[in-house]
Amino acid sequence: MAQSNKAILAQLPSFNEETTIDEWLKAYERGELERTLRCHWSQFVPLVFARGHDVEKEQRYANTFLFHPLEQFLCGGDPSIKFQELKEMDAPSQICGHVFRTGEPTYSCRDCANDPTCVLCINCFQKSKHKNHKYRMSTSGGGGYCDCGDPEAWKTEPVCETHRAGGALGADRDPVANLPVDLKGRAGAVFENVLRFIVDMLTWNKGNSLPESMQLEGDLSDEYHCMLFNDEVHTYDQVISTLQRAIECSNRQAIDFATIVDREGRSSVRQGPNAQCVKAKEVIERCTSRHGSKPLKVEVMHNMLVAHQTFVLRCIDWLQNIINKTDGLRRLFCLLSMREIDGGLSLMEKLILADTQLWKVARTMSHQLLMSGVLKDPECKKQFAVIFTKHYPQMSEDFISDDHDHDVSVSSLSVQIFTVPSLARMLIAEQDLISVILKVFLKTCQEKKNDKGKLSFERNDRSASFKRASYMLYDLKYALLCKPSDPSEWTDALRTSFLKGFMSMLTLLKMMQGMDAVTRQTSQHLEFEPEWEGAFNLQLKLEDSIVLFTDWCSSDRYLLIEAYKETMDNLYHCREKMDKEKLTVAGHTVKCQKHDVAAQPVSIHLPITRFLASIYIHLAEYGLRFDSPELMVRKRLEPVELMEPALRVQVLIAQTQAGMWRRNGFSLLNQIYFYHNVRCREEMYNKDIIMLQIAASLLEPDDFLIHLLNKYGLVAWTKPEYDNPTGQEDYLRQTVTLAEEFLTLLIIILEERYVPGVGEVTQKDAVKREIIHQLCISAMPHSKLAKALPEDPNHETGLEEVVEEVATFKKPTAGGNGKYELKDQYYAEYCPFFYHYSKSDQSKSEEAERSRKKQNGEDQALPPPVPPKFKVAFKPILRLFSSDVFLHVLSMVLSRTAAARSRSWSEAQFERVLYIIGLGLHEQMEALESHDSSFQFLQRATGEKGILGQLESLVHNTNVNQEPIKDLLAWVLRKFGEALHLSDEPSSKDQLDSLAKCADLRTQSERKKKAAIAAKRRAKVMAQMSKMQKDFIAENSELFENTHTDPGSAVDMDVNEPNADSVALGPKQSRSKVANSINVTCILCQEEEVVTLTSRAMVLAAYVQMSTVLSQNRSKHLANGEQYDPLLMSADLFNGTHTSSCGHCMHHECWQRFFQNIVNKERRRPVRFRHSSSYDVDKMEYLCPLCEGLSNTVIPFVPILPTMQRDSENKGVSLEFDDWLDGIHKTAVNSVQNKEIKGDFHLMLQPCPISSISRMMAESVARNFQLLWEYVSDDSSGSFSEGLREMMQKYARDVYVFGLGVKPDDDNSRVPVMSWNSCAFTIMSFEQDLSSEGQGIFGSLTERQSSLLGALVRFAATIGQIAAADTIREHCVKLLSLLIPEKVESLVFDCDCLLDVDMFHFLVALTMTLPSLHTEGSEGQAPAPTTVASLPTGGLNDQHALMLVFIVHIVQVILTYDAPSQESMDMEAEAETEGRMLLAAYVSVRSDAGLECSAMPSCWQLLSHIREATLPFLRCAALFYHHLTGVVAPISLHDRETDEFGHLCNYLALPKDISLLFAGQHTKSLVKSWCCSRTVRDRLSATNTPLMKYPRTVHRLITLPKDYSELINEASQFTCPKSEADDSRAPTRCLVCGAMLCSQSYCCQTDIEGTTVGAATQHTDACGAGNGIFLRVRDCQILLLSGKAKGCFLPAPYLDSYGESDQGLRRGNPLTLCKDQYDNIQKIWFQHNIPQTIARNMNQESNNGFLTIEWNHL
Ligand SMILES: [Zn+2]
Ligand SMILES: [Zn+2]
Ligand SMILES: [Zn+2]
Ligand SMILES: [Zn+2]
Ligand SMILES: [Zn+2]
Ligand SMILES: [Zn+2]
Ligand SMILES: [Zn+2]
Repeated sequence: MAQSNKAILAQLPSFNEETTIDEWLKAYERGELERTLRCHWSQFVPLVFARGHDVEKEQRYANTFLFHPLEQFLCGGDPSIKFQELKEMDAPSQICGHVFRTGEPTYSCRDCANDPTCVLCINCFQKSKHKNHKYRMSTSGGGGYCDCGDPEAWKTEPVCETHRAGGALGADRDPVANLPVDLKGRAGAVFENVLRFIVDMLTWNKGNSLPESMQLEGDLSDEYHCMLFNDEVHTYDQVISTLQRAIECSNRQAIDFATIVDREGRSSVRQGPNAQCVKAKEVIERCTSRHGSKPLKVEVMHNMLVAHQTFVLRCIDWLQNIINKTDGLRRLFCLLSMREIDGGLSLMEKLILADTQLWKVARTMSHQLLMSGVLKDPECKKQFAVIFTKHYPQMSEDFISDDHDHDVSVSSLSVQIFTVPSLARMLIAEQDLISVILKVFLKTCQEKKNDKGKLSFERNDRSASFKRASYMLYDLKYALLCKPSDPSEWTDALRTSFLKGFMSMLTLLKMMQGMDAVTRQTSQHLEFEPEWEGAFNLQLKLEDSIVLFTDWCSSDRYLLIEAYKETMDNLYHCREKMDKEKLTVAGHTVKCQKHDVAAQPVSIHLPITRFLASIYIHLAEYGLRFDSPELMVRKRLEPVELMEPALRVQVLIAQTQAGMWRRNGFSLLNQIYFYHNVRCREEMYNKDIIMLQIAASLLEPDDFLIHLLNKYGLVAWTKPEYDNPTGQEDYLRQTVTLAEEFLTLLIIILEERYVPGVGEVTQKDAVKREIIHQLCISAMPHSKLAKALPEDPNHETGLEEVVEEVATFKKPTAGGNGKYELKDQYYAEYCPFFYHYSKSDQSKSEEAERSRKKQNGEDQALPPPVPPKFKVAFKPILRLFSSDVFLHVLSMVLSRTAAARSRSWSEAQFERVLYIIGLGLHEQMEALESHDSSFQFLQRATGEKGILGQLESLVHNTNVNQEPIKDLLAWVLRKFGEALHLSDEPSSKDQLDSLAKCADLRTQSERKKKAAIAAKRRAKVMAQMSKMQKDFIAENSELFENTHTDPGSAVDMDVNEPNADSVALGPKQSRSKVANSINVTCILCQEEEVVTLTSRAMVLAAYVQMSTVLSQNRSKHLANGEQYDPLLMSADLFNGTHTSSCGHCMHHECWQRFFQNIVNKERRRPVRFRHSSSYDVDKMEYLCPLCEGLSNTVIPFVPILPTMQRDSENKGVSLEFDDWLDGIHKTAVNSVQNKEIKGDFHLMLQPCPISSISRMMAESVARNFQLLWEYVSDDSSGSFSEGLREMMQKYARDVYVFGLGVKPDDDNSRVPVMSWNSCAFTIMSFEQDLSSEGQGIFGSLTERQSSLLGALVRFAATIGQIAAADTIREHCVKLLSLLIPEKVESLVFDCDCLLDVDMFHFLVALTMTLPSLHTEGSEGQAPAPTTVASLPTGGLNDQHALMLVFIVHIVQVILTYDAPSQESMDMEAEAETEGRMLLAAYVSVRSDAGLECSAMPSCWQLLSHIREATLPFLRCAALFYHHLTGVVAPISLHDRETDEFGHLCNYLALPKDISLLFAGQHTKSLVKSWCCSRTVRDRLSATNTPLMKYPRTVHRLITLPKDYSELINEASQFTCPKSEADDSRAPTRCLVCGAMLCSQSYCCQTDIEGTTVGAATQHTDACGAGNGIFLRVRDCQILLLSGKAKGCFLPAPYLDSYGESDQGLRRGNPLTLCKDQYDNIQKIWFQHNIPQTIARNMNQESNNGFLTIEWNHL
C-alpha cells in the first residue's frame, strides 16, 4: 500500500476548492445541493478512506477534499473568522454540558443534588460551593454530561463560578435569529444533507452495493472486507482462537482484531476478493456456531461501503464540532434534525430507531451527537423528550432483543431526560410516561407468567431478555423521582396520568403477589432447590419505585383515596376462599380462617398487601380512617383477611426456627434471610409488621389474639391440660419454640412504633434507633454502620444527620478504622427484642449490654425502654393489655414457671412474659400520668388471682435461678410498686404491702448493688496504691536502681559490655567481642545446638531476590544474566541481590527432610491447583515451618570467625599503609597481562608470586609484607563438616541462580562473587532504610536482622574456602586492576572506570579475596591448601584494604562534587589544617583529571561535603566489620549522635583527619595515576550517562497527591499507548517509577518467555526485577506483583473522613492521602517485602476460598 504522495495526487480527479464551492453554490441555488454533494463524495471519499493511508495523511486529505470545502461553503468565507464572529454573538452559556469520558471523576453533592445522577465535572466542582458540602465522588462509565448550570438538577447552588458568568442574559432569545440569513440557509442545507447522508449510509444494509446516489460509473471492483462484529456472547479467547484458524493470522494479530472488535464494535479482519472474504466468513461462522450457540456476526462488505461508513463517522465528529461553535448553529441543527421529513419520521427518529442495527462505535458517536446537540439546548431537549418517549416502546424492545450492553444503547439516554423533573412531569402528564414504561416491562413479564397468573422464574434461565427488560425499572424510578413538591405543580392531567401508571404498577404487583409459594415437605427432602433469586431480584429492583409510588400517593388526598381503593380492589381479587372454624380461648370464641401454614402453600411475596400497609399509615394525615365512607369500595377485605398473608409469613419463619421446614432446603432459608435483610426488609418485613399492627388496632383484642394463636398452632398450648404428659416429646419442643416466637411477635407488635404514621416519631428518630441498636452490638466503623442501615431511593441512609447526636467517633489509635461508640445515655434505649436484630445480633448485643452493666456495677436486667406514643389510629393496639386472652396467656406462662414440673415451659417464654408485663407497666404509668382511666392493665394485674400475685410468688422459686432473669423479675416488681404508688387507689395499698413482703428481694438486689459499688471502690483504691508505689519508686530511683533487676537482661551483660571507643580493625583491635558462640534452637526438632565447626550444621530460612530498589538509574535493567559480570558492581546499583530471612533456624537434616516432604506433596497435587499456591516449589520456594514466611533457600550458620583461628600471629606485623600500598600496587601491575583471542586483546589475570614482589621492595618492608600472607595453619582447627559444606554450596548456588536469573552451575567463577554481592547489597539496603528513618546503624536492627547479617557476612568470608583458590585469586587481581587504569589501558581498549564502581561492594569482595592473593606457595611448591586460618578477621591487611577503598571513594566524591558557588569566604581564614590540606588535594585531583575548578568550595564546605557523602559507605563498612570481626560497636554508634563520622572513623581505625589519607608518597602518585588516566578523563567528559554523585539520593515511591480525585482525573486523561487515543480500562501507575500502564487489557499484552502477560507484569519484569508495586487508580487499590504468577491487592493509602479506605470506590466519600499508610506501603517495597506480603495475603485468601486471579494478565 505504500504509494507516494505524488502517485495518489496523480490519481485524484482534478480538484480546486474554489470551483468546487462555486459549483455547490449554484447547485444550492437550484435546490440540487444533495445530488452535487453526493457526487463529490462518491468521487473523493474512496480516495481518502479506501487507500489505507496512515492516520495523519488520511486526516489531512479528509480535511482538504471533504471538510474544509464544506465549511468554506457553509460560512461563505474563511471559516475560522466567520465562526469567531458568530461565537461572539452568543449569550454566554450557563450550562457546562461537558461530556464525560470513561473513568473521568464525577461529583455529586449529597446535600444539594436532586438525585445521585446529577453530577459535576471536576472543573465545575472545584469552582462550586458543593466542594464544602457533603459530596460523593465517583468515576463515569462514559456518556453523561456535567449538570452544572441546570437549575433542575440542584436544590441550591446550581451554577459554578465559571458558568455563573453566563447568567440569565438572553436566555429567552432565539439564538437562530443571530445567524445571517444567507448563512442560515446554507448551514441548514449542509446540516440536513450531511445528516441525511449519515442516516442513509449507517442504515444501509446491503454489503455488496451502494445506495444509488453514491454509485460510481461502471461496476464495483472486486475489493471486499470481511467484517467481524462484536457481540456480548462470545469471549475474547473464543474470538482470538477462531480468528487464528479462519484467517490464519498470528496470535498477536488476532488479539489486535479482537481488541478492535471489542472497542469499536467491528473490525475488518480480511481484505481481498469477494470469494476469499466469503470463505473467511464461513469459517468464522462455522467455528463459533458449535454447541448450538449463535455464531459470531460476520459480513462481507464492499470496500466502497466501508470507506463511506468511515467517512460518516468523521462527519459525525465534524458536525458535533460545528454545532458546538455557536448556539445558533446548534439550535438550527437540532430543529432540522427533528423536523419531519418525507411526511414521516425526522432524521433524528430514523437514527435512534436504527440504533441496534449500528455497530458499537457508530452508536456511541451518534449518541454523543445527540447529547452535544439536543440535550444541550433546553428548548430542543423538550421536543426530543417527547420524541424519545414516543419511541420508547420500540427502542426498548429493540434493546431487549439486542445483545449489546445497555450503555451503548440509545435507550440509555433515558437517564438524561427522565431525571429532569420538569421534563418528567411533562412527560407523565402529557405522554403517560409511567404507563409507557411499565407496559414495555409488563409485556416481557407476560412470558414469565404461570398458569396461575403469577410470575415464575426458572433456575438458570438463559434468556437475557428479562434481565435486559429490568433496565426499564430504572427508567421508572427516574421518572417517579420528579414528584411535585409544590402544590401548584399538581394538575389534573398529572393526577390522571399518574393513576393510569399506578394501575399498570398494580398489574405488575398482582403478578408478584403470592409468587414462589412454598409448601412444607414432610416426608422427604426436596429434589431440586426451588428457584428464588428471580423474585428477589425483581423485588430489589422495584423497591425504590414502590417507595416513590407511596410518596406520590401520600402527597395528594385524591391520589391517596383512589390508590387505596384500587389497591383494596386488587387485593380482593387476589383473595382465596377459606373455610372457617370456631375456636375458643379463655372463654372467647371466634371464627378463624382455616389455613395451616405447616401444610398449605405460603408465599413470602406480598407486594400488594404491603403497599396497602404503606399507604394506610398516611390516611390519618387526610382525616381518613379504615371506615371512612370515601374509602368504601363494593368489595373490600376485612382486617382479618388483610393481615392473613403477613401473619402466615411470620408463622412460616417461626416454624422454620422450630425446625419444621428442614426438608425444604436452602432456598427457603435464603428467602427468609433476604426477607429480613436490610436491603429488602423495608418493603417486606417492616410492612408485614405494620399490617399486623393495623389489624391489631382494628380487631377486637381477644379475637386478634385467638387468630394469632390459631395460626401459630398454639390454641392447645393455652389450655392448662397441655402440660400433662402425652408422650409426643418431639412435637412438644416445636411448640415451645413456637410459643417463644409467638410471644416475640407480640412484643414487636406492642413495642415497635418507630415508623412515622404508626408512632409519634420522625424519620430521624427511626434512623437514630437503628444506629443505637447497631452500636449496642459493638462499636462500629462508619462503613459497617452505613451498610446496616436501609437506603432511600437516593441511596441515602440519613446516618450523618443523626449519628453525632447518639454516638462519639473515636479516632483510630494505630492503623485500622475509627469507630463510633454509643453515648452512655442511649444505652437506656436498648431493646433486646429489637425486630431488626438477627438471632446472632440479639445474643451479641445482650452479652455486650450485660457485661457493660456489670462493669458499671448495675444489675443484669434488660427491661424494655419506654416506647414513644402510638398515633391515634394505632392506639387501640393497647387494648390488648387488658384483654382476657392476653392476660390468660401471661398468667399461664407464669403458673408454669411456678410449677414443680412443666413440660412446655421455657425460660425464654418467662423472660418474654416479664418483658411484656414491663411494657404494660410503661403504658400504665403513661396512662396514669395523663389521667387516662381507660387503660386497665394494672387493675387487672393486681386483682384477685392477678399476675402480680403470681410474680411475687416466683421471687424465691428455684425455677428462677439465673441472675439476669432474677434481676428482670425484680425490676418488674419495682415497676409495679411505682405504678401502684402513682395510681393512689385504695385497693393498691394492700398490694404495696404485699410487695413490701418481697422486701428481701429488693434488698437482695440492693445488696448486690452495694457489693458492686464496694468492688468498684476497692479497685479504685488498688489503682491508687499502685500508682503511689510507682511514683515513689520514680522519686527515689537511685535507691531502687540496684535492687530492681530485670531477670532476663543480666545474664549476658559481661560479654557484651559496649566499649566507649572500640576499634574493629588493625593492631589496635579491641578485645571486647560479642559472644564467642552462637546458640540456636531448631524450630523443627526443638533441640538446641551450639554452632561450631564440628557441630551439626544449622541453617537459617531465607529468601533471595533480585532487586532494583536501590537503583539510581531506572532505565537500566539486567538484560542477560548469563553474560553479566557482577564482580564490579555498578555505582548506580541498578540491580542487586537481596537476601532476607524470618530468622528461624533449623538443623540442615531437619530442613532437608521438611523440604523434601513439601516437594513430594506438591508433586502429587493436580497441576491446576498448583498455580494458586502462595509458593512455587519449582522455584525452590517453601514457607517457613514456624512463621509461614516465604523462603527460597537457607543460609548456613558459619561459626564466629575468630573462634576458628588461633590468635593471629601477624598482629605483630608492622607495615605502614603507604608501604603496604606499594606492595599491592606492584602486585597488581605485575599480575596483569594481556592475551590475544581472535584479534581482540583480553586481560589475563595471574597473581605475581610474592617472592618476585618482595624482591622489588626494601628489605625491611618486604619481610613484613610477606608476613601478611603467612598463615599459621593448624590441622586441628580443621575445615568444615560435610553438612556445613553441603549447605554452603547450596546457598552459594541459590544466590547465583536467583541473583542472576540463570541456571545452576557450581563451577562458575561468578558463584562466590554473587555471595559477596548479596552480602554487600543487603547491608546497603539495611543502611539506607535506617538512614531514611534517621536511626543509628547499631541499636536499631532487630535480633533477627542482626543474626541475618552475621550469617551473611560470615558466609561471604568463608565462601572462598569451598571455591577454587585460583578463581578467588583471579577475582582479587581483577579487583586490583581497577586501581591501575594506566597499565590496563596499555593492554586492552575497554577498561573499567573506578568512577562507575560501587566501592562498598568492592570493599567486601576485596576483603574476602585479599587473604588468598599470595597463597600460591613458594616458587615451585604446590599452593598451600586454603584453611580457615586465612579468613579475614580484621587484621592489618583488612585495615589497609579499607583505607585504600576509602581513598578511592573520596576520590569519587571529589571528582563528582558540584561545588556551590562561593559564599562564605571568611570561613577560609579559620580553616584548620585538615581543611586546607584537603582543599589542596581537591585542587590537584581535579586538575589532574582535567576538570576546571571554576567554582571552588570553601575548606569547610568541602570537608563537610566529603563527610556527608562518605557517611553511608562508612556506616556500611562498620556493620560489615562488626560482623566479620565480632568487635562490639561503641555505644556512640547505637543512636545517631553528633560526629557520627568521627565515631565511625575511630571504630574502623581510619584517621579522623581525612587529609592524612593522602599524605603518603605512594598514595599520592597512585591517586595521580588514576586521575591522569584516559579512562577517568574520558568518563568525566562523557555526557551520555550521568555520573553517580554522593551521597546517593535515597529513592522513595513516587509522591501521591493529597486528593484522590486528582489521580482519577489524571488517569482519565490517560489513553492506551497501543490503541491510538483509546481509553484504558485499568489505568495503573507504577509507584516506583511513576509510569502509567494500560493494565488488565488485551491491547497491551505481551509475551515473556512464552507466557502472555499484561502491561503491569511486563513492567514488573523490567522496572522491579520481578517485583512490582502499583496503584490501580479506578479500583483505588494497591497491586503487588511478584514473578508472573503471584500478586495481591491492598487498600490504597487513601482514607475518608471516617478513617476508612474505599477499595473499588464504592462508598464514594472524598478520599485523602494517609501518610502513615503510604509509609507502610513504602516500607513493604523498601524493605524488600513484596514477595512476603503477597505470600501472606495469598495464604489468607486461599484459606478463605477466594477465586484465583490470573495475576500475569494484570
Ligand atoms: Zn462542568
Ligand atoms: Zn460549571
Ligand atoms: Zn451542595
Ligand atoms: Zn532439628
Ligand atoms: Zn520463620
Ligand atoms: Zn492498552
Ligand atoms: Zn516502574
